[in-house]
Amino acid sequence: MGLKVYINGELVPREEAKVSVFDHGFLYGDGVFEGIRAYNGKLFTPKEHIDRLYASAAAIELKIPLSKEKLEAAVMKTLQANNLTDAYIRAVVSRGEGTLGLNPRLCEKPNVIIITDSIKLYPQELYDRGMEVVTVSTIRNHPNALDPRIKSLNYLNNILAKIEGLNAGVMEAIMLNGQGHVAECTGDNIFIVCKGTLITPPRSAGILEGITRNAVMCMARDEGIPVLEENMTRYDLFTADECFLTGTAAEVIAVVKIDGRPVADGTPGPITRKLLACFRKLTRG
Ligand code: PMP
Repeated sequence: MGLKVYINGELVPREEAKVSVFDHGFLYGDGVFEGIRAYNGKLFTPKEHIDRLYASAAAIELKIPLSKEKLEAAVMKTLQANNLTDAYIRAVVSRGEGTLGLNPRLCEKPNVIIITDSIKLYPQELYDRGMEVVTVSTIRNHPNALDPRIKSLNYLNNILAKIEGLNAGVMEAIMLNGQGHVAECTGDNIFIVCKGTLITPPRSAGILEGITRNAVMCMARDEGIPVLEENMTRYDLFTADECFLTGTAAEVIAVVKIDGRPVADGTPGPITRKLLACFRKLTRG
């Protein structure tokens, strides 16, 4: 049985899961999305993801045509229709079909789409040994232009940074903001450990407030690890004792090299390994 995709209330085979070329999501990246994980048949922090989806939509004045409860039920229905218990779920709400002009008011009906997949973002080897990243020259979107808190369908800022990373031979790239402070990676938040303290850029650095980021900060506090949300520069990255990334798809993954420089001794550090284990336990029991 092939993959079934949810489109506006219906579950259709993947080949039939299509939207109009006049959808402003396609023409202009006008829409919002979420990536949600299911572990053991249960959604991980569904409320946080659904609230963020509705907040992103509100920020672009897009009204999602169903309640939060109905949307969560639709996600579960799609998961079950695909016989998936452990999955990555993509929920997309696009502005819908309109004209070739920009005017979103001419788009009558948003498209609500739910796609499920069994992907794992990085190979297991990277989880064991840690990954290499680089800082790139593409700066993160200025919050007064397109706030990174909006998880919009326009990911070109991140894609440009990703291309720089790929050209440098790595899978993830660190973006700075206009002030030269570390913001986040193309699809993950970033943490460093400095003298036993966990530090991550504050929301004001212009980041997506990651749900995994928040979960990891809570876990760390529960473990008695001090946590700070503080601006950092490349100096802080280069002098850190440990570094790791967080994201719904990536979960928690160690960074062992930044711009060709090993982080400390170049192996995943003890706090990173501890938090990785805690996160595995939290999600997989
Ligand atoms: N930053 C960006 C730009 C992202 O796309 C993501 C992935 N959604 C994250 C951070 C991590 O957020 P979360 O933990 O909520 O998946």
